[in-house]
Amino acid sequence: GGMLTDLVALGPERPALTCDDVTLSFGELDARANRVAHALRRHGLVPGDRVGVLSRNRPEYVELLFGAARAGVVLVGLNWRLAPPEIAAVLDNAGPRLVLAGTAEQGLVPDGVEVVDLDTGYEKWIADEPATSPDVLVAPGDVVLQLYSSGTTGVPKGARLTHANLAFTPRMGREFYAMGPDSVNLVPSPQFHIGGIGYGLTTLGQGGHTILVAAVDPADMLRLIERYRVTHSFLVPSVVQMLLSAPEIDRTDLSSLELIAYGGAPMTEALLRRAMDRLGCGFLGVYGMTETAGTVVSLAPGDHDPGGPRAGLLRSVGKALPWHDVAVFDPLTDEPSPPGQVGEIRVRSGQNMAGYWRRDDETAATLSGDGWLRTGDAAYTDDEGYLFLHDRIKDMVISGGENVYPAEVENALASHPGVAEVAVIGVPSPRWGETVKALVVRNPGEDPSPEELVAHARERLARYKCPTSVDFVDELPRNASGKVLKKVLREPYWPDAAPVR
Ligand code: ATP
Ligand code: MG
Repeated sequence: GGMLTDLVALGPERPALTCDDVTLSFGELDARANRVAHALRRHGLVPGDRVGVLSRNRPEYVELLFGAARAGVVLVGLNWRLAPPEIAAVLDNAGPRLVLAGTAEQGLVPDGVEVVDLDTGYEKWIADEPATSPDVLVAPGDVVLQLYSSGTTGVPKGARLTHANLAFTPRMGREFYAMGPDSVNLVPSPQFHIGGIGYGLTTLGQGGHTILVAAVDPADMLRLIERYRVTHSFLVPSVVQMLLSAPEIDRTDLSSLELIAYGGAPMTEALLRRAMDRLGCGFLGVYGMTETAGTVVSLAPGDHDPGGPRAGLLRSVGKALPWHDVAVFDPLTDEPSPPGQVGEIRVRSGQNMAGYWRRDDETAATLSGDGWLRTGDAAYTDDEGYLFLHDRIKDMVISGGENVYPAEVENALASHPGVAEVAVIGVPSPRWGETVKALVVRNPGEDPSPEELVAHARERLARYKCPTSVDFVDELPRNASGKVLKKVLREPYWPDAAPVR
């Protein structure tokens, strides 16, 4: 049994998955997943082997996840947005027996790797296979999905996720998103990230309808919301920003929306308030990572009260879901930090990955023996257990001996009307060791001066946290998760590599 097997039980005729306006029912998805499982076995893949997918979002991705699960094979999601040498390095680490790639992505596959073309070869590959279950014994602790971290702080690492890890996701859908069989879920995030492929299971796991977005285009997403009467979606902040700025939003019927989840990267309070105001539905904050198979901390809809006495919670990522332990530890003493004191977020949970693939040192550094996973994120909790995320420990700036967390500075600057986007980094300073620098994308038609922005920050923050320089840029470098690549921004200022914490 289990979620990745019992799809027909959810109602064979019901719509399961729509992509590019083509819809598969649960019965069809189930049959096609079985054909995939048989095709993998015929191809010589045995339990524990890895099969790669290198493609933009498409329905076959979901068929391959369920098919691999039923064959005991590990699906490896590959980020097609990486540069060819980066993809080659990931494939070298993963060592898949076979890669399924779209025609558009064929050129990214290094020589010597066996490929089936998803556009021209896949239908033939599964056509003659039986639509019945392959009867492979699969245990909850078996690895089913190997997803690479976003590579925001270093090279992407392959997190090995088990059936048991993924089984929490539909529960999250039911209990936190209030999803049911009538929910319609828009999934725009890439399927090679947990916020795409894992998040899709919130609806797929309970008979709801998943609308997979093939390519993130704000006008098309707005069309899909109206056409399919979308009730739920998980959006990273950069996509929220994109939707709100799309001129088509004024002509779109958004009345079907019930709940928008946001997270995966820092959401400024200013953007959250704009989104709540404009979209007029419930909001749910989520915090998690590839290594924890997605969400472990969440800010409930009821905690989104923009005018009330608890409006400060809009800056919190929320509380641990009831079935996870999340705590802040002092990284120096390894003791839990008291409320208000910044430390490292650690997670003890049934969602914690089995480990990284072929990176034993990093696995040992991340998964301590006592069940706690080290996230590398800095935060503090308040007296009620709400978590306030500061930043990555690696992105922290130490200026004159004081720790500065860029997110706090970014939030302060983002509240200025002239600021569309902002990233804060540490740059070398002879006097302070490091000093705070802001890179700002201005709003169209606005022209704030650097001095004005520094003054704006000084009204809100301690002096040592304020930027000592502001540069204006046209855009910020981002990865496929929408995260600003601070390592790229820091590079020009640190000829001999930035400090590593
Ligand atoms: P890498 O580990 O390769 O450097 P990454 O950490 O960006 O990349 P992911 O697993 O995709 O890879 O992202 C998880 C991280 O995203 C978290 O550790 C956290 O830093 C950030 N994050 C997740 N949710 C939120 C959120 N709600 N607000 C702010 N940041 C978030
Ligand atoms: Mg990470």
